[in-house]
Amino acid sequence: MRMEDEGFVIKKKEYSDYDIFGSFYTNNLGKINLLIKNARKSKKRFMGKLEPFNLVSLKFKYKNQGSYPNLLESIDLIDNHNYITLDKKIIVLSSLINEYIDNFETLENPSKKNFNYLKDFFLRKDKNNLSLCLNEVIKFQLKYLKNLGVSPSVQRCFKCQKNLKEINFFDIQNGGNICYSCGKNNTNFNSMRIKNKIDLRSVKRDDNSKLNLIKTIINFSEFHSGKQFNSVQYLD
Ligand SMILES: [Zn+2]
Repeated sequence: MRMEDEGFVIKKKEYSDYDIFGSFYTNNLGKINLLIKNARKSKKRFMGKLEPFNLVSLKFKYKNQGSYPNLLESIDLIDNHNYITLDKKIIVLSSLINEYIDNFETLENPSKKNFNYLKDFFLRKDKNNLSLCLNEVIKFQLKYLKNLGVSPSVQRCFKCQKNLKEINFFDIQNGGNICYSCGKNNTNFNSMRIKNKIDLRSVKRDDNSKLNLIKTIINFSEFHSGKQFNSVQYLD
């Protein structure tokens, strides 16, 4: 069956001497892998289009699940993310967003919400503004995890619901931010201690606090996906 869909380029992988596999997150099918024949030979046809973070429109031959592969027929740019021009840190943060899709999503399990979260992030204005990018990453992490049903508590202790001004302890296995009195009797309370405590009042204006919060949420996400997020090592 021939299909048309729009989607974000998540990653590409060499498949043979001539072909590559592209992984996309599309509006109608969610995460999908497409075999791109001769992509390594006819570079002109795909130049600049298959780069990660781009929003593209796709035409492909769709085969039912199980009888792979689906074949890409044509690809056109809707939004060129132009990532080569971006600051290194912003590229790492953008890769982190794609890692969420790669680590958590199963194939062909679409969610309009997730597609819109990706749009909010990748089509944001002022793409090379780091401070703004950090805000958008935190928003993405929290919305995405909430949609999965595993959102961590950030502003409140997840046990007693008390408002907290800081994150000193974070329980990645359970609900996230936890206050001293709720956590102190826990046998592994020490492992929940955050290396550099996060002042939640300064998260709005301080890039380092934003980054610490992002890393803390990544730890939580790694536990719940059972997979590693490789971009975290490039965030320092
Ligand atoms: Zn508490």
